[in-house]
Amino acid sequence: MKVLVVGGVAGGASTAARIRRLDEQAEVIMFEKGPHVSFSNCSLPFYLSGIVPTSEKLIMMSPEKFKKQYNLDARVNQEVIAIHRDRKTIEVKHVVTGEVYEEAYDILLLSPGAKPTLPPIEGIHSSHVFTIRNVADIERLQTYIQMNGVQDIAVIGGGFIGVEVAENLREAKKSVTLIQRGAQIMDPYDEDMVQIMQKELLDHGVNLELRAAVEKIETAHVLLANGKKIAAEVVVVAAGAKPETDLAIQAGLDLGITGGIKVNTNYQTNDPSIYAVGDAIEVYDQILRRPTRLALAGPAQKQARAAADHMYGITNRQRGVIGSSSIQVFDYNCAATGINERTAKMAGIEVDSVYVIAPDKVGLMPSSNPLHFKLVYEVPTGKILGAQAIGKGNADKRIDVIATMITMGGTIEDLKDLELSYSPMYSTAKDVVNMAALVATNVLYGRFKQVHVSEVRDLYEQGAFFLDVREKNEFENGQIKGALNVPLSELRERMNEIPKDRPIYVHCRSAQRSYNAVMALQNSGFTQVYNVSGSFLGICLYE
Ligand code: FAD
Repeated sequence: MKVLVVGGVAGGASTAARIRRLDEQAEVIMFEKGPHVSFSNCSLPFYLSGIVPTSEKLIMMSPEKFKKQYNLDARVNQEVIAIHRDRKTIEVKHVVTGEVYEEAYDILLLSPGAKPTLPPIEGIHSSHVFTIRNVADIERLQTYIQMNGVQDIAVIGGGFIGVEVAENLREAKKSVTLIQRGAQIMDPYDEDMVQIMQKELLDHGVNLELRAAVEKIETAHVLLANGKKIAAEVVVVAAGAKPETDLAIQAGLDLGITGGIKVNTNYQTNDPSIYAVGDAIEVYDQILRRPTRLALAGPAQKQARAAADHMYGITNRQRGVIGSSSIQVFDYNCAATGINERTAKMAGIEVDSVYVIAPDKVGLMPSSNPLHFKLVYEVPTGKILGAQAIGKGNADKRIDVIATMITMGGTIEDLKDLELSYSPMYSTAKDVVNMAALVATNVLYGRFKQVHVSEVRDLYEQGAFFLDVREKNEFENGQIKGALNVPLSELRERMNEIPKDRPIYVHCRSAQRSYNAVMALQNSGFTQVYNVSGSFLGICLYE
């Protein structure tokens, strides 16, 4: 069998390697229009800070290594410019020599990735404006910065790439402004959780411009629609990416409603001899039950393996995607999976959420830190739909647990009882994910009521009664104006100070003491008691 592969990075290289593992005889040729195959796209931003010391380190495999280790023919600087389905050939152009030739296939696999979106901004095609997709892009950017002694840089777009680029440039001591059109950065996170990331960026000196549209890019600055002028000798555009579908369109392959290449469960396009994987395809959202696109490396590599398997008669059970991701924002590790509350509500799914702030390890351990954890679940089934975790410890581990639960159709009941490993250095006996599920079951079954931090401002403006059960010294360091301070340790003696005829909104620092206070009040005849989910830490971050 002769298999041609378009694209030599995540999806393409993984497919080619898998084919070789399945078939020693297959002729496999991989075409890559850029100068490198198999590089680490995900590590590109880390070259800007020096965490990745040289750009060569970003390249995992050379064509020579592919030949030696896998007996694969990897051709760099060779762009596939057309597919002739009638005669099962592709047309290839050598981007350096200009030579054009045809190559025949039995099977063709497309993994051409995505291309950065360039918003229609005046000046966006200037020589000091950069996008980042491959090693050549990051080398060009770094060289420009170094050659021109650039200090002021604007990054347009607050998604994964924008945030990582902003952080790494800041680590390299540049003055960085991150400009985001919407009200928050990082879409997978709800507005309560994202505050932690935004504060961390600000605390590390990244200038954050939210609800800011760039109107014009000039030589040394960008102009925002709100009239602000942001100093920028370099502009990095990270405003999203579009699936690379030019070849598919030229070849008459079907696209899906999201604009990605349409594939079946085995990653075949409407032409069974042509497969497609990676950022270029449309995938199925397992939770929202609708087509979507997901530009992440893990899914691309798994799709690649599945496509190669199918070429050899092994069928797949494609579950669809849930979207699990992680990102470091300076000292914080952030991870998310499934859908957030905002997305659920937009999709008309009835959900509730709990926001728990718990130690990631036993408090006595020197590296113990609070972990902010939000669990989103369906009402009334309790089915887990998503989670977000942010902390200095292992946020990703907690999110990986939840990703597993979602994939297996788990509920908050399952999570409450989930038996996880424990030692004081790694977690707590009841891990934060168990804790969140316990709170969620209590709320779902009506054992106590809660309000979210996002509701606190409205409640405050309506004159609601807040009960702060932290210790006096904590209260004195900052409080909700007008709140009554009755520390949990004094609550039982001072219950007569708390009104019975109006709702009471109880908070402490992280919602643990307040939960105990809520239960004590309820069990003492108070009927309108609410725990503030996320508590004072969450409130402060949200405001
Ligand atoms: P790619 O890996 O982009 O490969 C496509 C290749 O096809 C390209 O090299 C392109 O030059 C080539 N090509 C296109 N058209 C042709 C043609 N006609 N002929 C020949 N060659 C062609 N994902 C994560 O999960 N976690 C992360 O932390 C993460 N960080 C990222 C950081 C950055 C800066 C970037 C850019 C991406 C990041 N991603 C991350 C996304 C991840 O890299 C992609 O989802 C993944 O690489 C997609 O694989 P792919 O094979 O579809 O596309």
